[in-house]
Amino acid sequence: MQPRYRSKSVRKLRVKTKNRTKLRFKRRQPKNKSCAACKSAIPLNSRADRRKFGGQLCTRCSRAAIIYGARVRRGEIAITEVALKYRKYIPI
Ligand SMILES: [Zn+2]
Repeated sequence: MQPRYRSKSVRKLRVKTKNRTKLRFKRRQPKNKSCAACKSAIPLNSRADRRKFGGQLCTRCSRAAIIYGARVRRGEIAITEVALKYRKYIPI
């Protein structure tokens, strides 16, 4: 078996032919993405992939992270006041 077919993202299919059973390989579909903060589903191949935190956070959580980031930068709140799930997305 070639190294490229040893990956877990490749599915092995046994196909019966006249003389023997052959192995066929097929790429698995990528799993649905989920938000890193709230675990809600993020649609695949959406335009949202190109925005800030695209593919990582859902729209609600990225909005919250951006707002918290602005507040921390302005000095309105301290970084310790931000919920832990958003803290990682706020640059210091
Ligand atoms: Zn979320």
